[in-house]
Amino acid sequence: MRKVRALSTEPATSAAIDGVYSTESVRAAWRRSAALEQQIAADPTPFRVLTGERPTGALHLGHLIATLANRVRLQAQGVEIFLIVADYQVITDRDVAGDLSGVVREVLLDYLAAGIDPEATTIFTHSAVPALNQLMLPFLSLVTVAELERNPTVKAETADAERRGRRGMSGLMFTYPVHQAADILFCRANLVPVGQDQLPHLEISRAIARRFNSRYSPDRPYFPEPDALIVSTPTILGNDGAKMSKSAGNGLEIRATEEETVRFVKRAKTDSERHITYEPDRRPEIANLLTIGAHFAGTTPEALAEEVGAAGAGRLKQVVTEALVEGLRPMRERRAEAAAQGPEYLQAILARGNQRARDIADRTLDDVRDLMGMTY
Ligand code: ATP
Ligand code: MG
Repeated sequence: MRKVRALSTEPATSAAIDGVYSTESVRAAWRRSAALEQQIAADPTPFRVLTGERPTGALHLGHLIATLANRVRLQAQGVEIFLIVADYQVITDRDVAGDLSGVVREVLLDYLAAGIDPEATTIFTHSAVPALNQLMLPFLSLVTVAELERNPTVKAETADAERRGRRGMSGLMFTYPVHQAADILFCRANLVPVGQDQLPHLEISRAIARRFNSRYSPDRPYFPEPDALIVSTPTILGNDGAKMSKSAGNGLEIRATEEETVRFVKRAKTDSERHITYEPDRRPEIANLLTIGAHFAGTTPEALAEEVGAAGAGRLKQVVTEALVEGLRPMRERRAEAAAQGPEYLQAILARGNQRARDIADRTLDDVRDLMGMTY
């Protein structure tokens, strides 16, 4: 197995697992993240990143700016990336998964469009890696029900009973942080890109790694405690001013045509103030257009605001449209090229990624059984 350096980390307190991150611990996490970025720039080889998403629909501008762009950057820096298409997680909060193979195909095309290189990055699906899922059993024994209940997402689901009507929370949803720990630890990933608000989500994975090591491998820690690589991710808004999301249908998909792109910006909300300034709290819609435009123009929202200034929202929309159309064009072309190669091409990418993930997961599970005295 590829050697991953176990990064030294401060022990997580139970307060951290509660999701109660103090301002000081958030600052410390940012400092640690900045130090990690420096280490990556100097030598990316000790790092392995685990990241991914649920295949619930084609990806949009929010995904592209907030997560995909960062993955492509890390990939270009030479960091090894494991990209999970978390298909089992689709059924945490719905009865049926829908057209999974169709959605997985679209998500794969979005990855390729955004610049993920399947030769460098391992793309795989949960369901194709049995040993990963089996890791959940020993891992489940390392956490308490009370800890799971304190996980922010599980807590939100518990509070959100009204939306779900009579349907209760599924056991898969309740244990999803443990499944996530299996995703991260099966390949002994030591870096997980997260937004600042997602810091508490990683604590259960870190606790599981630590507890496994101290219980079964005290002399030689087996699992690295994964570190958060914090990315400052703006929340991208849809053209109705609410958070862009697949389910709200207010977004711009990566696969959108040029006409759809132009229409998206045209319909985007602005405000009545003429002079363009970047003030995310006071002027969220203008700030959103500036964030999108700056991302594709390779500048900052502040600089773009300065540039447009008194020319107003009409000019801003023109600049954003141009930057977006130019930025998305090469992605659309890559997407079309990949799609033109037929379904076998995508199937082969996934088959390769799944085989690689299976080989690694099998070895990890063998090691885990050895350490637990379960080799018969
Ligand atoms: P759904 O409507 O089904 O919840 P979604 O569009 O919100 O879908 P998710 O799959 O829930 O997408 O999001 C996965 C990840 O993508 C999030 O954790 C977040 O990091 C990022 N993301 C999604 N939407 C946005 C957005 N509008 N702005 C920034 N990041 C986003
Ligand atoms: Mg969502």
